[in-house]
Amino acid sequence: MSERVLVVSSNTGESTGLIETAHAFAGGDGSVALLELTQGGPYPSRVRRIYRVSTPEFDSARGDHISAALVSATRDFEPSVVVSGPAKVAREALARAGAVVRAPSITGVRNPRVTADGVEWSRDLLSGNATSIERVSTRPVFLSLSAVPTTGEGGHDPDPSPEIVPLQVVLPAYPFRRVSVQPKPPGGLNLEAADRIVSIGRGLQKKEDLALIEALAKRWGAAVGCTRPIAAESGWLSDDHWVGLTGHRVRPSLYVAIGISGAAQHLVGMRDSKVVVAINQDANAPIFQQADYQVVGDLYAIVPELTRRLAAGTRAPS
Ligand SMILES: Cc1cc2nc3c(=O)[nH]c(=O)nc-3n(C[C@H](O)[C@H](O)[C@H](O)COP(=O)(O)OP(=O)(O)OC[C@H]3O[C@@H](n4cnc5c(N)ncnc54)[C@H](O)[C@@H]3O)c2cc1C
Repeated sequence: MSERVLVVSSNTGESTGLIETAHAFAGGDGSVALLELTQGGPYPSRVRRIYRVSTPEFDSARGDHISAALVSATRDFEPSVVVSGPAKVAREALARAGAVVRAPSITGVRNPRVTADGVEWSRDLLSGNATSIERVSTRPVFLSLSAVPTTGEGGHDPDPSPEIVPLQVVLPAYPFRRVSVQPKPPGGLNLEAADRIVSIGRGLQKKEDLALIEALAKRWGAAVGCTRPIAAESGWLSDDHWVGLTGHRVRPSLYVAIGISGAAQHLVGMRDSKVVVAINQDANAPIFQQADYQVVGDLYAIVPELTRRLAAGTRAPS
C-alpha cells in the first residue's frame, strides 16, 4: 500500500532526514509533502508539495500555532501518516492537531514501517530495557520520531519545482505571547561525540569537589558527564553533561562512573560504552553489574590517587 506522508519540520537539516524517512515509508507510489515552519531548502529529496505558512503572526516556536497549521495542511493534503522529529514543540503540536482531526498521536517512535495490517513502529519501554511493538490499522496516524535519522543514502532527486502552497492559518487567541528567544551559546559540550567520559553522581558532596573530577578528566583527555541530580537538582553542571534516559545517550570507548548508583534511567544513557569503570563505596551498587572494572571505595581517596598516578606517567588505558 502506498502512503501519503506529511512531514512537519522547522529546519532544513532535520527536514532532510525526515523526508528521507517519509519516502522510505511512502513507497514508490506514495507522495511526500512538507509543512515547512520556517523557510528553508532546497531539500535534497523530492517533495511533491511544500506548505508554507503565510500568516504574519505565526510563531514556529509555539506548539499551538504549529498545530493550527498542521490541521490546515492535513485537511488539504489528506495524509495517511504525519511525521515529525522529537522536539517538544513538535510533539505538542502533533498531540493538539491529532485531537482535532481525531488521529492517534504517538511519541518516541522508532523504525516506523508499513505492514499488511497497518502502520507499525517500535518504542522503548522500561527505560529502554524493553521494546514495545505497536500497530494501528486506521489512518491518519501522527508519529513523532525518537530521533531524526541522519541518512543521506538512497535519496531521491530533488524536485526543482515542488508545488508551494501558502497556508493562511487561523491562530488560537491564547492570552500569552513569546517575549524573546535566547539561543544556546555556541561551542557547548557535545557529549555524544566524546571518546572518553568521566561521569559524576551524587557521591560528590559539594560543587567545589568537581575540581577533583575535572582534574581526572583532564588527565584522561575525557569530557565530564553526570547523573540527572547533579544537573537538574543541584545545578552543579549544565544539561550538556547529563547522561541518561532524559539526558544524552553516549557511547564512548571509556566511561568512568564515579559515585553513581546505576539507576536504570542512567544506565540507558551509557550502556553502549565500550569499557566501563565504576568507582563506588557500596559494593552492591547496581552500576557494578554494568562495569568491566569495579573499584570499591571512597571516591575522595581514589580519584586524587588515580589523577596523581596518571600525572606521574602511568599510561592511560587506550
Ligand atoms: C522519569 C525519570 C527520568 C530520569 N532520567 C534520568 C537520566 O536521564 N539520567 C540520570 O542519571 N538519572 C535519571 N533519573 C534519576 C534516576 O532514577 C536516579 O535517581 C539517578 O540516576 C541517581 O543519581 P546518582 O547515581 O547520582 O545518585 P544516587 O542514586 O544517590 O547514588 C549515589 C551513589 O554514590 C555512592 N557514593 C556516595 N558517596 C560516595 C563516595 N564518597 N565514594 C564513592 N561512592 C559514593 C553511593 O554508594 C551511591 O551508589 C530519572 C528518573 C526518572 C523518574
